[in-house]
Amino acid sequence: MRSLFRPMGGFFFQCILAAVLMVLVGLAADVKAVDDTVIFLDPGHGGEDTGIVGGGGLTEKSVCLDLAKRLKQKIDERLGYRTYLTRGEDKSLSLDERAALANNHRATLFISIHLGAFPDQRYRGVGVFYPAGRFHEAAGRPQPLPEWDALQATHRETSKALAGKLHHALLRRFPDGGDLGVHALPLYPLAALNMPAVLVEPAVLSRAAEEEKLGSESVRDALAEGLFEGVDLFLKNGVAGERP
Ligand SMILES: [Zn+2]
Repeated sequence: MRSLFRPMGGFFFQCILAAVLMVLVGLAADVKAVDDTVIFLDPGHGGEDTGIVGGGGLTEKSVCLDLAKRLKQKIDERLGYRTYLTRGEDKSLSLDERAALANNHRATLFISIHLGAFPDQRYRGVGVFYPAGRFHEAAGRPQPLPEWDALQATHRETSKALAGKLHHALLRRFPDGGDLGVHALPLYPLAALNMPAVLVEPAVLSRAAEEEKLGSESVRDALAEGLFEGVDLFLKNGVAGERP
């Protein structure tokens, strides 16, 4: 009888060991899913390229960098995802360099931060854009770039969802701040990105009243908080069919 039970005991032991291993692998997979998330924040312009300059002298490049740094800090402290800035200082960076950085890091999502500019002072508040359409036509290039169209097109629904979450969170934080909507645009700067990507303009720098507000630390922090909430909402909910 002992000779019969021994192999049985060994088999049960193996079953238990296998079950324990499966649980451990499952836990490791969950941890890995969080670790795999790589967020790229892209402060618009930089260096020689100031972006828009407000009537009071505030530059788009400096506000965007500050917002991106604040957002990164919030993500680092509260979500713990790996977060990178395409530029952490005032330097020029080509659109191709920005895209290559994010693609090489296999970023999970890409947020380009800019500020709105309109000749009409009535335009105010938040606008969010996600890439759609034929990039090569929008760029006015003679050579078609169908592979770029195809690359970003695979992420269109997820990019749209990310744009929606950022828009929702910013409006919730600034309900009276003005709403310039969510729009699909053939955004050439985002065309080469192989991940969900959006361009967000949390405020309009050309509007004098908003430029004044953007000079305030607390307003900038609240804008960064709105962006943070949008990222958090997006990563928690995701989109069916594609891991965000
Ligand atoms: Zn810009």
